[in-house]
Amino acid sequence: MLFPLIDELATTDIVSVPPRVAVRDALRKMSQYKVRNVIVEEESGGYGLLTASDVVRLRFSQPGLDATISEAGYHPLPYIAKGSNLLDVIELFNDTHGYAAVIDESNRLFGIVSNTDILASLDPQSMLQRQHLRDLLRRHEVKRMPHDTPLGEVLASLVAQDDAVVVTDQDTGVGIVTTRDAIRLLQDGAVLADPVHVHMSVPLRTVTCDLTVGEAVAVMRDLNFKRLVVEDPQSRELIGIITQQDLIGVAYSRWAELMHHHALELREIIHVLEHKTARLEKIAATDPLTGMANRARFEELLRTEQERHCRLPMVPFSVLIADIDRFKHINDTWGHNQGDIVLRGVAQHIQGQLRHIDTLARWGGEEFAVLLPQTDLEAARLVAGRICRSLAQNVFERVGCVTASFGAAMYQTGESAAALLGRADEALYRAKRNGRNRIE
Ligand code: GH3
Ligand code: MG
Ligand code: MG
Repeated sequence: MLFPLIDELATTDIVSVPPRVAVRDALRKMSQYKVRNVIVEEESGGYGLLTASDVVRLRFSQPGLDATISEAGYHPLPYIAKGSNLLDVIELFNDTHGYAAVIDESNRLFGIVSNTDILASLDPQSMLQRQHLRDLLRRHEVKRMPHDTPLGEVLASLVAQDDAVVVTDQDTGVGIVTTRDAIRLLQDGAVLADPVHVHMSVPLRTVTCDLTVGEAVAVMRDLNFKRLVVEDPQSRELIGIITQQDLIGVAYSRWAELMHHHALELREIIHVLEHKTARLEKIAATDPLTGMANRARFEELLRTEQERHCRLPMVPFSVLIADIDRFKHINDTWGHNQGDIVLRGVAQHIQGQLRHIDTLARWGGEEFAVLLPQTDLEAARLVAGRICRSLAQNVFERVGCVTASFGAAMYQTGESAAALLGRADEALYRAKRNGRNRIE
């Protein structure tokens, strides 16, 4: 998985207590180990959390600190397996107060993870805090030279790769010569034959490899150093040099890596959401019974057509409104379900007579509307006539023949959609009055 693993986020400095001990004992442990929470390890294998604020609250209420933790009450703590990733925790935290115990492969407590840890993991500054210099010290050998080496020889060895030389006296670092020293010495005309210890920078400032990258950056800033000589805290042996470049490299590569991973995750999420959105948009625009456009979609497309007509007034467009004849009779005779089947069939039938630029919509009940772009009244009448005739010839299973009446109207420049549809509707009613199964 691409997000950081819980192992990297979890705080492993944890203190646990059984629920039967007194709160006062928990307080003592919290203070001793300098932690803000203690984990309550139940005998049943469950976990809980007693926080610093719980202890403070208990201190000022009955029965006070002498109550056992189980009497005082504590927060249930969900647990999550080491090796889970950030997304799992975020999911888990949806319905908890933002803490989870982390358990290892053998179900032992490994650490605790909180919202704070998650936030910290997303912050480049604290990412730096987590990494130690010893993890970076693979490349750099310390270049050393004995303290009686002639200055000229030391300066000559300062090249791009080794822009500092540690000066040693019997293997102990006693000073350093850097490129900055070199400039100063060359400017001052220092005698190149002098032993280097006369001119080196003293004392040699070292840092230990325990330092975090963040701390190392701070030291470099404070002392205005371009590099840090790193020693082992136990043996005090010089073990490497860390340059500014190294630190910048680590900081940004880690950041870039994380950004990259997040970008991949985001792309995945966006992909899913787009899919979902497209599906919802389709649902919102579709009549569930017939699968054709619904009224809202029809009105939207009609608006688009009106706008197009505004730009290109020579291009006509028309609408048809169709209403199935004597549909109540079909319902009454064959039942509502059969009525639905006929409705779907009529929709399919009309759709089959249209061009791909036309739109058939269910207007409501057993009425349909058809949007016919680039179609004048005469052409609209022809289309409607074709549909009307072919529908009348079609035989529906059980029900037999079904007819419909049509009203056609061509858009008149400047009129409203309602006016256009009103005219089509009037024409439809004329068709009904004039005997049905016809177009007006
Ligand atoms: P006319 O020729 O005058 O249009 O006669 P009609 O029987 O079709 O009359 P009207 O348009 O008033 O009736 C439409 C009927 O369609 C009434 C209603 O119950 C039925 N109806 C509306 N929506 C649906 C539906 O989704 N499914 C079914 N099965 N029937 C519907
Ligand atoms: Mg009707
Ligand atoms: Mg009808």
